[in-house]
Amino acid sequence: MLKGKTALVTGSTSGIGLGVALSLAREGAHIVLNGFGDVEGPKAQIEALGVKVGYHGADMSKPAEIEAMMAYAEAEFGGVDVLVNNAGIQYVANVEDFPAERWDAIIAINLSSTFHTTRLALPGMKARNWGRIINIASAHGLVASVQKAAYVAAKHGVVGLTKVTALETATSGVTCNAICPGWVLTPLVQKQVDARAAKDGVDNAEATRRLLGEKQPSLQFTTPEQLGGLAVFLCSAAADNVRGQSWAVDGGWTAQ
Ligand code: NAD
Repeated sequence: MLKGKTALVTGSTSGIGLGVALSLAREGAHIVLNGFGDVEGPKAQIEALGVKVGYHGADMSKPAEIEAMMAYAEAEFGGVDVLVNNAGIQYVANVEDFPAERWDAIIAINLSSTFHTTRLALPGMKARNWGRIINIASAHGLVASVQKAAYVAAKHGVVGLTKVTALETATSGVTCNAICPGWVLTPLVQKQVDARAAKDGVDNAEATRRLLGEKQPSLQFTTPEQLGGLAVFLCSAAADNVRGQSWAVDGGWTAQ
């Protein structure tokens, strides 16, 4: 379905981003990876699917590096047809204890990077009259939790930016939507499971049960593969007129 198209997925060396990149590659899309840590492993996994793979190590907190990444995608792949804004970080503290530097980093990486990639990808998408912008927001783009001021503010911002982008592209072949996962067991969440285990003095399994039990009625983690499946749907012709929506994949979290 995506043969000949190029998908750039920010934060795709791990977790949800890698899952989405793999799903898009299975549909034939060439992939531009981004993110920190091991690059060779994810690259090899995607190359095995027979598509072209590139990598740019731009730090999503730095607009100049984002510009360099988008220029790289243009030069090496002829532009970005599917943009998945996924890179994100978390920090947990009460508002009055929240380090200002962590606030700035979360807003920059989780929200502002999406503005920068979007503004740089849109001209090419509009010129080709086809594009998909998929923003990985969160259940925390729709509802709040304690101690996540920066994350919740950023993700609500992503949901708002998604709507504006969708309105501004509404008469074109470019669409913009958000995916709002509940708990997904990735390194980002394992850290929160570990913190819960330490705080409550329980093992990993019990900490996991408690974490899910608080928020996610299905008591099951959402998987990167499920999110990849939704991203593939949003890239399909069936989704040509799906615009500005926030798709919760949260085991019932935001139905409560
Ligand atoms: P993860 O920690 O497994 O992966 C994050 C990715 O972002 C990694 O590839 C990392 O290298 C990259 N990254 C981090 N900082 C970066 C930076 N400054 N520049 C470039 N890349 C950077 O996390 P994940 O759980 O897969 O999260 C991915 C996205 O999904 C995030 O936006 C997160 O907020 C969102 N999300 C996660 C969950 C969950 O339960 N895991 C739930 C809802 C939303």
